[in-house]
Amino acid sequence: MGVNKDSSFLEGVNRMLDQAAETLDLPPGLAGQIKACNAVYQVSFSVGFRGGYQIFRGWCALHSTHRLPTKGGMRYSPSVNQEEVEALAALMTYKCALVNVPFGGSKTGLCIDPRDYDAHQLERITRRFARELAQKGFISPSTNVPAPDMGTSSREMAWIADTYRNLFPHDVNAIACVTGKPPTQSGITGRTEATGRGVQYGLREFFRYPEDVKKAGLEGGLNGKTAIVQGLGKVGYHAAKFLQAEDGVRIVAIIEHDGAVLSENGLCVEAVKDYIQEKGGLAGYPDAKFIKEGNAVLEAECDILIPAALGGQITSENAGRIRARIVAEAANGPTTYEANEILKERGTVIIPDVYLNAGGVIVSYFEWIRNISHIRFGRMGRRFEENKGLLTIEAIEATTGQAVPEKIREQLIYGAQEIDLVRSGLDDSMRLAYEEIRELHSERENVTDLRTAAFAVAIEKIARAHLEMGV
Ligand code: NAD
Repeated sequence: MGVNKDSSFLEGVNRMLDQAAETLDLPPGLAGQIKACNAVYQVSFSVGFRGGYQIFRGWCALHSTHRLPTKGGMRYSPSVNQEEVEALAALMTYKCALVNVPFGGSKTGLCIDPRDYDAHQLERITRRFARELAQKGFISPSTNVPAPDMGTSSREMAWIADTYRNLFPHDVNAIACVTGKPPTQSGITGRTEATGRGVQYGLREFFRYPEDVKKAGLEGGLNGKTAIVQGLGKVGYHAAKFLQAEDGVRIVAIIEHDGAVLSENGLCVEAVKDYIQEKGGLAGYPDAKFIKEGNAVLEAECDILIPAALGGQITSENAGRIRARIVAEAANGPTTYEANEILKERGTVIIPDVYLNAGGVIVSYFEWIRNISHIRFGRMGRRFEENKGLLTIEAIEATTGQAVPEKIREQLIYGAQEIDLVRSGLDDSMRLAYEEIRELHSERENVTDLRTAAFAVAIEKIARAHLEMGV
């Protein structure tokens, strides 16, 4: 049992899985097989700093190896534990299946507060952790490929890739052992923004269906809707920034680790981010109301609540007071099982984590493909596309005797760059997955919410793979 006697994260994920499995006609025992975590490696290692040694403890859970490699984030947080890592790994399995990424699910966690160490110390800790994992086969381009999560970024991924390459210099695909690397270190453009971008694309897709929007008690599109974002890290920042700049969403509150800022007229996401970077927190931010008890702001009035920080933020304790019409789960596991039931009862629409934050793993999949094919997307076709566009313009102008307007001309001769292809692939994946969720939701009377539908779509695909392979 976790906080407020709610189910723990792992119990919650398993109960949600069970709920969805009950709506399907699976052979006895198969749901149990899908739920089971295949392997967990726990490691303790020491790093010597000036003045002594420190022991660190980490875990790597490979939840399902029905597809390889397995894939999942690497989290640095003082609250990481084995159960959390197993729950996150399970979610990754279902997420990959749902968005048609041909990987199993995994998660890696190190129990550490990265803010307690400088970059040099973090590099030593990360390289040592990577060596421990790689030597036991828990990192490799063909078995398990971590990516950034809470407390890690492209910087840590570059250190891990370099460590792995030094350990296995004859592996031609060594660089594909992690994703989310800096673009200059064989990363892909658009990976840093990918999860937040995916949240934007997922919300756009939801708002394309007036019937779905109506179920949330809202109408119209995203433009003019109000949102509250919890956590202005990699995911929350990009989601909030794009929704504000490109979809006209008004960000009326931002919650961070030291409190929350609120403004009815809307906050400038970029300015808040700059302020946090400079001051280390939100306290003292000008032109907005500051509330020290940040989590109380989860209950403030808004159309869309976007938890994008920790798990277990909406519990049976506060769920009854959440006023948002839509909870858009950018974080992993922000809603406990019990809170999920309360929100459903109250008619709040939850766009579940297993779908909404899949942008990261989708673009990680693109990066892995780029790495094992050793070529940047768009390199072969870009100039060819541009030349074709030019020829088309010449043909139109010769036939009509009229000049093609400058704006259309520019669009016709534009050859797609890697970032355009990444965004297009991400958008397509998010749209298709939502369509699959909707279809199942509308076909089955016993499926009453998007989370159960999303889990059911995922389970059906994993079950098929198990049955075809022979369990
Ligand atoms: P991050 O470390 O970049 O950002 C987390 C942010 O939350 C930080 O700004 C931190 O200050 C803030 N925060 C910490 N404690 C808080 C509190 N009590 N209240 C409010 N804010 C608090 O992490 P991230 O990569 O953005 O991940 C955020 C969530 O999204 C996690 O649940 C993660 O598992 C999930 N996620 C991340 C990715 C990814 O690609 N990074 C992909 C899928 C899901």
